[in-house]
Formats: sequence, structure tokens, C-alpha cells
Amino acid sequence: MMREEIVFGPIHSRRLGSSLGINVLPERGKICNFDCVYCECGWNKDGRGDTRLPSAGQLRARLEAKLIECRDNGIPVDSITFSGDGEPTINPEFPEMVDISLELRDMYYPQAVVSVLSNATMIGRKEVFEALRKVDNPILKLDAPTDELVRKINQPQGDYHVADVVENLKRFEGTFTLQTMFLRFGDFDSSSPEVLEGWMNIVREVKPREIMVYTLDREAPAEGLQKISAEEMEALTRPLAEEGFKIQVRG
Ligand code: SF4
Repeated sequence: MMREEIVFGPIHSRRLGSSLGINVLPERGKICNFDCVYCECGWNKDGRGDTRLPSAGQLRARLEAKLIECRDNGIPVDSITFSGDGEPTINPEFPEMVDISLELRDMYYPQAVVSVLSNATMIGRKEVFEALRKVDNPILKLDAPTDELVRKINQPQGDYHVADVVENLKRFEGTFTLQTMFLRFGDFDSSSPEVLEGWMNIVREVKPREIMVYTLDREAPAEGLQKISAEEMEALTRPLAEEGFKIQVRG
């Protein structure tokens, strides 16, 4: 699903309440340094050629206008979430955009939670790391425990090493949510010991304060993807739940 505005919503979500979305990627295109087989925005190559990234100034104007409109109409805003057509931390003005979102949140809806959905590829960069540390809820993706497995499911476009991501996740000292997609695709199977055990060991190492496990929801670009049911995901992650990890399963 492609987003066409910098600020969209609010949409109602069971988990986030009344939620405003922020898309800091092009209005009519997808830009990501992953090309996940399950991406709701489609393949990178079909990204419709729009590469104009919104600026921090544009975000400020649109977000402030939207917050004022919500306030004047008595519409609640419980969360503001960076989740667009691609990877938000690719926008060079992302750190400034985080500051703007926090500042406007404090002004208009001080109780709202600011979240960022990111694939964690850029968290080794100081400015990206620091910006993600400032938001209430950084939600960081890790779908598989080895570089080879990540290549199958996430298809990184540049240099990507799970070991580096793990080291960088540890620097969050547990103040993040880990997001993991569970699915079956060709010879990739999130429930296989090869994937599951390695992933669980990484969870134990990086100690997220929450884990979001989910499966396919909408249309995906690759054929032959299979969902994993909520019951199965619950059973698969039970050892972690028993060790005290907070796990949210979304089937
Ligand atoms: S990281 Fe997100 S935006 Fe990027 S390809 Fe994967 S699902 Fe799509």
C-alpha cells in the first residue's frame, strides 16, 4: 500500500489507538535499502520513479497543520508513527524530522507516543542512532539470524551484516521494540530450527523491551509466500515468553 502524503490519518488501530502516520519517503515512490519479499509497497524497481524526498520544513508545515486540524475538531491523537513507503532513516533530514515531531507532539498532544518503524540498517550511524534514542518507541526489524537467511527474505541492497546490527541493537540497552516477520517462502521457514533458534539467541542477546511478531497481512510482491498462524507463532515464541520477554503476536 503506497502512502501519498507526508502526514496521513489519523487511522484507528487497536494497538496504537488514533494514529497519525508520517511518510518521509517520496509521495509516489518507494525507497528502501531492503527489498523484502513481503513488502506491502511492492518491489523497489516498481517504485514509480519518484525520488523527491520530503524536507524537514515540509514535514513541519504538514504535521503542524494536521495537529491543529485534529485539535480544532476534537479528534484524539494517541500516536505519531514514522511508517512510510520505504526506510525512513534513509532521508538525510530524518534526525531533524524526529526533533520536529517531538516538538510538535509536546505542543499539541503531549500524551501521544512517537514511534519509528525502521529496518535497523542505518542504526550504526551516530545521528540515526541518536534520533532513534529520542523517540518513545523505536520499532526495529530483524527477520532472520544470518546474512544468508536475510538475503533470502529481505534482499539487502548494500552491505548488511547481522553481526553489526546485533552490536548496534545492544547499544539501545533494551529501549526498543524488535519487530520480526514470520513466514514461509521457498526454502526459508521462520519456524525451522535454523531460523528460529538463531533468532531467539539474538533476542536473548539484544534484550528488547518488547517483541512484535507478525505475519503477512496484505498483498506482497513475491509469489508463494505463506502465512504462519497466530497460534503457531505463539507456540514458537513460547520459550521466550517463559523467560520473561514481552511478546505481542499479530496473526
Ligand atoms: S524494510 Fe520495510 S519498506 Fe523496506 S522493503 Fe522491507 S518491508 Fe518494504
